[in-house]
Formats: sequence, C-alpha cells, structure tokens
Amino acid sequence: MNNNSLWLKGIKTKLLSSLKEDITTDVLIIGGGITGISTAFYLKDTKLNVTLIDSDKIGYGASSKTTGKLTYLQELILNKIKTNYNIKTVEQYIESQKYAIDLVKDNILNYNIKCNFETNSSYVFTDQNKYISKLKELNNILIKCKIDHKICTNLPIKYPSKYAVKVNNTAVFHPIKYILALKDICLEKGIHMYEKTKAINLEKEDEYYIVKTKSNKIRAKKVVLACHYPFFLIPGLFPFKTYLEKSYVASGIVNKNKMFNAISCKDIHSIRYHSDAKDYVIYAGLSRPLGQNMNNEKNFDELLWHVRSNLTKDIKYYWFNYDVMTPDSMPIIGHYQSDPNLFIGTGYNTWGMTNGSLAGKIISDLIKGKENKYAHLFNPSRKVNIMKAVNILNYDLNSSVTYVLSKLKTNYSFYPKNVKVEMRNGKKCGIYIDEEGCEHVVSNICPHMKCNLVFNAVDKTWDCPCHGSRFDIDGKVIKGPSVYNISIK
Ligand SMILES: Cc1cc2nc3c(=O)[nH]c(=O)nc-3n(C[C@H](O)[C@H](O)[C@H](O)COP(=O)(O)OP(=O)(O)OC[C@H]3O[C@@H](n4cnc5c(N)ncnc54)[C@H](O)[C@@H]3O)c2cc1C
Repeated sequence: MNNNSLWLKGIKTKLLSSLKEDITTDVLIIGGGITGISTAFYLKDTKLNVTLIDSDKIGYGASSKTTGKLTYLQELILNKIKTNYNIKTVEQYIESQKYAIDLVKDNILNYNIKCNFETNSSYVFTDQNKYISKLKELNNILIKCKIDHKICTNLPIKYPSKYAVKVNNTAVFHPIKYILALKDICLEKGIHMYEKTKAINLEKEDEYYIVKTKSNKIRAKKVVLACHYPFFLIPGLFPFKTYLEKSYVASGIVNKNKMFNAISCKDIHSIRYHSDAKDYVIYAGLSRPLGQNMNNEKNFDELLWHVRSNLTKDIKYYWFNYDVMTPDSMPIIGHYQSDPNLFIGTGYNTWGMTNGSLAGKIISDLIKGKENKYAHLFNPSRKVNIMKAVNILNYDLNSSVTYVLSKLKTNYSFYPKNVKVEMRNGKKCGIYIDEEGCEHVVSNICPHMKCNLVFNAVDKTWDCPCHGSRFDIDGKVIKGPSVYNISIK
C-alpha cells in the first residue's frame, strides 16, 4: 500500500527552475493548483506578461489529493445556499457549476487532453432515516430549479443506502493529468512559471505589488492569490471566517468501473470509480474540522476497515486532504477587499475542481476587464447574513477552540513512544527519535499563528491543527500557510 495519492501514480514531471532574479510582470499568480493554473490558462492569449510561482511543484497541492469529481450535486451545499440566500441564488450556483464542467470539458476537447474524463451520474444519498427529510428538501430544490433528477433508494452497488437523489451528465476526471496538460499549454504560450519558489511577503509600493521570495523580489501590477489558504492573511480578517476540513481517502482495485459517483449527505462517505490500466474505486470519509481530526493512524485504520468491508479488499493507496470551508457554503472568488489589483480564489467547501476552474475564468475575466455573469455571486466582499449563516459562530468557535486546545494539550495519548513535546532552553520543542536513536528537535509552535503542532505518525511530520501548515521532522515547512521553518539552530 502506498501512503500517497493515486493521482501521483506514474506521473513524472521535470521540475521547472526556481526564480533566480528580480523580475517585473503584469500579472503574478501565486500557486499552481487548479485555481492558479486555470487563471494562467485563461490569460495565455492576452498581451499581458503573466508569471506563476509555486512553492512546491505545480499541481501537487490539494488538487493532487481530491477525488476528482465534476458535479453540481454536492452533498447538501444546495440546501445550505437556499437557507443562507434564496432559490434564485441556488439556481445561479447550479448554473455556475454546470458552466465550470463545460469549461473543463471544452479544454479537454479543444486540446485533446488525455485525463480519463468520463461522463457519469452523481448521487447524494443517506442510509439514515433522520437525514431523509434533508434529501426530500434537496428534491424540492431541484424541482424548483427545473433540474432533471431521480429519487431512488439504492446506489448501483451494494452499499448502505435508504434514499438517494440522482442526476445525470456530471463527470469525473484525473485532476493531475488535466492540470499538467494546462501547465504545458501555458508554458508553450509564453507564461513564465517557476517551481520551488515561495512567496513570503506581499506589500504595496506605488502602482505595484512587491512579492518577496526567499532571495528575490517580484514587482507585479496585479496579483492573484491562488495558494489555497492565503499565507499572509490573518484568519479573522480573511473574508468570512473560514476553517479547514480534513478528510481521509483510500483507493483500491475493483473488477469493474461502475460508472457513477456518490456522496452521502452527512457524515461524509464519498465514492467514485476510475479506470486506467486497472479499475479503481476511490473512497473519502471521516471528514471533520482539521483540529478535531489529527490522529492519522487511528483514522486511517478506521478508513481502511470501512473500504475493505464495503468496497474492495485490494487497497493500493491512502492519503488525506483538506479544504477551506466558508460559512455561507459559497466560494470566495474575485477582488480581495475590493482592491482592483488583488484577486483571490479559495473557500471551495471541498468542491474546488468546478469552483477552482470557475475561479480561473472569473479572475481572468476581471483582469481582462470582461464581464463575467458569476463574478457577483462569489464576490469576496459580499454580505453574509449572520442570522441565517448560523454556522459563522461555530466557525469562529472552531478556530478559537482549536487554538486554545493546541495550547493546553502537548503530548497526545496517540503519540508513539519516540515522540514527545517538552520545554528545552525555555522553548516548547517537538522531539522525534529516529530508528538510529537520533533526536530531531524542532520548535513546537507554528510560525503562522502560533498554534502548537501535532505529530503525524503516519507521515512523520509536525502538522498544525489550526491552519494546516506541515513541517518535516527537521523543521522544514512542506505545506503552508506558514512560510517559515521550525528548525532550531
Ligand atoms: C478529501 C477531499 C476530496 C475532494 N474531492 C473533490 C472532488 O471530487 N471534486 C471537487 O470539485 N473538489 C474536491 N475537493 C476540493 C479540492 O481538492 C480543492 O478545493 C482544490 O484542490 C483547491 O485547489 P487550489 O488551487 O485552491 O489549491 P491547491 O491545489 O492546494 O493549489 C495551491 C498551490 O499554491 C502553492 N502555494 C501555497 N503557498 C504558496 C506560497 N506561499 N507561495 C507560492 N506557492 C504557494 C501550493 O504549493 C499549491 O500548489 C476535495 C477536497 C478534499 C479535502
């Protein structure tokens, strides 16, 4: 079994060079996931000088760990949007997601991209009586929005289900093959791309933004924040207090691709199939706020047991992923704090394959000065009705409780014997003792917002329960938002 995403299987890419000089550009895109690469793609035919930087390798962030569904039947997102806004907004949201699926499909057809794109049906289901009313509500929403759909009891496979809503003409694809194909097209069209180039600061200087990397400066007229969880924004000030949700994923070999995708409406169980040389089932579950979901060993055990009992005994890959959640269940796409030259695309509520593609189109249209009919819907400056989006308080509470708990708890009961947190020279340190008995000592405090880090025994990393930064056992940051290491000299 590989502790890695199925999508990285057999993917070989030559690392692009990192930035080695100061540069000036019209548009700087920070981050090369589905959001950044789609934005670059839709700017490739303009006269603008466009640069994209990624702190790691393009496509290897959250977008490499998704389940790769392209659908508008997204658990109970439509119900939530109806509660937070109204049926008209739900209608526009569905339309926007269908439009995003078409954008991806058109790119695949126009550029002959081989990325296992497959049209199939989507289900939202439940095996619990108490949630059937939620699905009946979804049924009514779809009727009001004139969306062709069906009600059934079972999924096309033997899997616990009592009630399901089904729509046709949605899709699945191989997210990494798609992103890397867009990357190649962008490179051919003259977009400048640098890998292993991390933005560590962003400041305004006259008409330009100055983005600092470790050794260089980039002067840019316009900046697009496509880095998933923006690295320099203070969470409380980040539009609509967001939080991260973490889920665990596994994939294994099956006899046949059953040509559907499904997700439960609560207590997430997500299923899809994928055909390469062999047929695979992909399952995601155990979705909870990041801070409540840090015991990877236990969670993987539970996940693998569920997959073996219900889907396949032949598991080949397992991994985890997290995504940025918003209290009104709508993504955040557009001008950041109404700044005409600063853009953001994030907050996809685990539906970033459609919403990230859409973000690329919306942001590129805004940069080109073109109208985009969905821009107003996801505007980061939109007003959220706090009384309706009751979750907003929970979201705030979630972040604060996670922070406080991280401060109170140091050594978790699930830590292996060779891991401990203790004070050394007045500093709270995380200590990992390797097989040779060598101590690897790092600071236990995340440089981003000062949360205490939790050891991840599966990957042997120190992970932040608040905002998702990750560090290796020697303190090197391997995932933001932190841009600094936790090594102790
Ligand atoms: C378990 C799970 C399953 C999912 N399945 C689906 C699905 O089936 N369908 C769907 O639509 N969505 C799905 N999603 C959601 C989807 O994966 C994400 O919403 C999407 O990948 C986010 O894309 P992104 O471009 O914003 O971020 P990323 O893909 O993470 O890209 C951000 C990039 O920015 C770079 N970066 C970060 N900081 C810096 C910095 N300081 N300087 C330079 N570069 C930086 C990173 O290296 C990274 O490459 C799922 C999410 C989860 C958790």
